[in-house]
Amino acid sequence: MDQFLTRLMEPLLELLFPPRCEVCQELGRPAFCKDCRAEVLPLEPPYCQVCGAMLQPSPAHRPTCADCAGATRYFDGARSVGLHIGALRRAILNYKFHNARRLEGPLAGMLADRLRLETSLPHPLPVSELDGIAPIPLHPRRRAWRGFDQALNLCRKVSGLLELPLVEGVLTRVKPTLPQVDLTPQQRQENVRGAFAVPAGALEGRNILLVDDVYTTGATANRAAQACKQGGAVRVYVLTLSRPAPPWHPAALSLEPGDDDTA
Ligand SMILES: [Zn+2]
Ligand SMILES: [Zn+2]
Repeated sequence: MDQFLTRLMEPLLELLFPPRCEVCQELGRPAFCKDCRAEVLPLEPPYCQVCGAMLQPSPAHRPTCADCAGATRYFDGARSVGLHIGALRRAILNYKFHNARRLEGPLAGMLADRLRLETSLPHPLPVSELDGIAPIPLHPRRRAWRGFDQALNLCRKVSGLLELPLVEGVLTRVKPTLPQVDLTPQQRQENVRGAFAVPAGALEGRNILLVDDVYTTGATANRAAQACKQGGAVRVYVLTLSRPAPPWHPAALSLEPGDDDTA
């Protein structure tokens, strides 16, 4: 009877709630439509060899960005799908804060595609040497409040797409942190200090890929990577959906408000 009712209701539900793009809200489109995908600005090489930031193309560019020069980075490389503007930014916000869960598949697909692309680029991350993929986790309290953990859900899907083992529950957030968005870069560093933990030896000898939605200053990724290394990881890489446009990029002129990279 239940199944019969469901079958009867389906066309009615589609009529009442027709599928729409979760980014531009146009009716009758897939969750992340072609027009919106075309709006995504990928990060183009050359990249900073430490944090993966786009470097201004010039014959004499340095191998690292200004932020990484002299900074302690516990991760060994980082990549992002695109700049945190336009359709990609809206997709991430709608997924995180407006429960647009239909975006999970398309966003995970973009992360997997970005990693697959790596082997065709100069100075690629050693993707074939990865032993596992882990989300940069939310604090349990924030997870309970939101009802889901976006990085974990994305990670589950990416793990399936790339056939990389999911390392779940090993890296945990042990300190509730303030939303990074309201803080200065200095305060961001302080806010996430000691925020993560990995049991001693839990990642012994492994190369881990950490996944999150947004990379802003890298403070969060850095502390998560530090915890992984303290737990025995050899190398730690970071993959996110987006990061802000570098200051010299034309897209940086049309800056939208920053977003929390830890929420
Ligand atoms: Zn759209
Ligand atoms: Zn850098």
